[in-house]
Amino acid sequence: MSRKKEEATALAEVPVDKPKSDPYASMLSRFYAAADVVGLTPEEKEILSRPAEIHIAYLPVAMDDGRVQVFESYRVIHSRALGPGKGGIRYAPEVNMREVMALAAWMTWKCAVVNIPYGGAKGGITCEPKKMSVGELERLTRAYTRAMSEVFGPDKDIPAPDMGTSAREMAWIVDEYSRLNKGNFIPAVVTGKPLELGGSKGRVEATGRGVTMVVLQALQRLGRRPEGLTAAVQGFGNVGSITAKYLSQNGIRVVAISDKSGGYYNENGILIHQAIQYRDSHGGILEGFKGGERITNEQLLTLPVDILVPAALEDQITPQNAPNIQAWLIAEGANGPTMAEADAILNQKGIVVIPDILANAGGVIVSYYEWVQNRRGHYYTETEVQERADNTIKQAFDDAFTRAAAQKVSLREAAYLIAVERVVKALRMHGKY
Ligand code: NAD
Repeated sequence: MSRKKEEATALAEVPVDKPKSDPYASMLSRFYAAADVVGLTPEEKEILSRPAEIHIAYLPVAMDDGRVQVFESYRVIHSRALGPGKGGIRYAPEVNMREVMALAAWMTWKCAVVNIPYGGAKGGITCEPKKMSVGELERLTRAYTRAMSEVFGPDKDIPAPDMGTSAREMAWIVDEYSRLNKGNFIPAVVTGKPLELGGSKGRVEATGRGVTMVVLQALQRLGRRPEGLTAAVQGFGNVGSITAKYLSQNGIRVVAISDKSGGYYNENGILIHQAIQYRDSHGGILEGFKGGERITNEQLLTLPVDILVPAALEDQITPQNAPNIQAWLIAEGANGPTMAEADAILNQKGIVVIPDILANAGGVIVSYYEWVQNRRGHYYTETEVQERADNTIKQAFDDAFTRAAAQKVSLREAAYLIAVERVVKALRMHGKY
């Protein structure tokens, strides 16, 4: 195929209403805006606009059919100003370095906005976990742990699950990392572990529960009751399904859900426990679910609902679809679901957006408790974990809400101001070298 033809074909494959995304650009534009208000020096801006470290490893893995496949993997530490690097590991075919860089920086701002003593990091492996066997995934995870053994550490960098990974992968990392350290059992090197290996009660549900807590807190501050409101949730994995469950338990009618297979709409409310059961018995996907009529992911975003929860991928709310969004409250369960260029449109429409760095921080809050429990060797009850986490995220929401009102800015801008201020204060205390 000629070069021109190739280009034309590639362009035709990019849907016109969804420009090619660069989450790092979205992260940077919000950071720069806050940095100017906070008064960072050009040097401080330069430091925080780049990752502190980028580690890339190519991992040869023996596949079940006898071939050896090489996987590209990353670990990015954005900042250790407030503490050790902290952030999940993503397994997905679209994983790329700029995405991991953006996700690492968001972790810095997220930990800062909820005031936990961590920096920001993120990891990723470009792979298709749903098409790999358990054995292949275990070999891949162990290879990644060996490659990153000098990067990870309970006082250096503490991974956790993200899209495509779960407690199972964290267990393999603890095992491999402990073997590499003369057999000393070091559970605090990762969070989101199975309970049997030092995981925390309440961790699996923590992010979705946190999203619900900030939604309820926002409703309270806006003088609205949850009963009778409607919601649409994009993404039906860990974050989306648990948010949907808690929202409906709090009287909010979840009328639409979606995942990779598309969307499902039922104006009387989707029965969330039924959808979760269906997904779990169908290989983790909703394909074929009969609890609602079929819609597309794009349609889900613009439904006439009160609350919209994007909980799947980055760059779903774009300047193209933002004008058509009808919800008046958006809680960003996913990281970076809104392109920076869409912010102004949402603000203009008066939509209240609870930004990702605040809305989905419930997971990292409970990860912090898990790490504390591992280090103390003392474990909390589920109620203790939930009460602490609920209070922490509600406090962070109130701080952002108060700041937004005082400075007449959006919740996102307020959250960034709080986060950037905390990080730069710590950076200054570290001193020059
Ligand atoms: P997951 O792998 O459990 O679920 C992802 C969901 O998104 C699945 O239902 C998948 O089918 C769906 N999806 C994938 N591609 C899609 C598409 N093109 N359109 C619609 N749906 C699509 O992942 P998760 O842990 O729930 O993470 C979801 C988001 O939340 C990510 O942005 C992640 O970074 C963020 N997040 C997760 C946590 C956590 O604790 N798991 C914490 C904070 C933020």
